[in-house]
Amino acid sequence: MHSSSPISRRDVIKGLGAGVALVGLGALGSTAQAAAAPVAASAAAPASGPFSLPKLPYAYDALEPHLDARTMEIHHSRHHQAYINNANAALRDQAALSALTGIQLLQRLPSVPDAVRAAVRNNVGGHVNHSFFWEIMGPGATVPTGALAAAIDKAFGSFEEFKTRFAAAATGRFGSGWAWLNVRGGALVIESTANQDSPWSDGAVPVLGLDVWEHAYYLKYQNVRPDYVKAFWNVVNWRKVEANFTAAPV
Ligand code: MN
Repeated sequence: MHSSSPISRRDVIKGLGAGVALVGLGALGSTAQAAAAPVAASAAAPASGPFSLPKLPYAYDALEPHLDARTMEIHHSRHHQAYINNANAALRDQAALSALTGIQLLQRLPSVPDAVRAAVRNNVGGHVNHSFFWEIMGPGATVPTGALAAAIDKAFGSFEEFKTRFAAAATGRFGSGWAWLNVRGGALVIESTANQDSPWSDGAVPVLGLDVWEHAYYLKYQNVRPDYVKAFWNVVNWRKVEANFTAAPV
């Protein structure tokens, strides 16, 4: 819901410099290899490019009954894979960009060439967001502890109030997008983005995120997004969220 703010000039300059400097024959070689490979048309096609599908840190049925196995399998093996295929296709002739990580690309969108910027924004965004999403979930309900619990209380008054506001951001996002708990300027903030736009592109560091695209919940919850958001609290891996928070700049 927040408006986009430009990323810092320093990041853009740093990004371009590092990208160009890091590109060696290795990266060019892998790009040449990728160019020779056929366009990945099926979800099961192997990755040919800088990105590949990460393994889920748990089984497809591990988040039952809150997130059903069929949804998890389709979401991971088809939707996430499709973002990866499209991202790799977009970067096929972009050796310098291919040397950057997904997060670096999202942080430097303004310096990405016009011809591939939208593809990078949507598909590298989709890859980075989903890779993040799988990691902040897990079987077994947990709650925040330690410094994160204290920061949530400080920012939102209580854990319950945080959940209420986060759910409002998730259900209030019109159409497809994400709800986020981000660190921005050293403070915890609840935000949401449209489509596959990423907090990384907007100067924030995500610590918790919820995919509110219909593909994330429609099989089990149909159009009732609030029930899906309510179920999400049963599968948040707060240990991973705490690690994200600890790693975020203060
Ligand atoms: Mn998704």
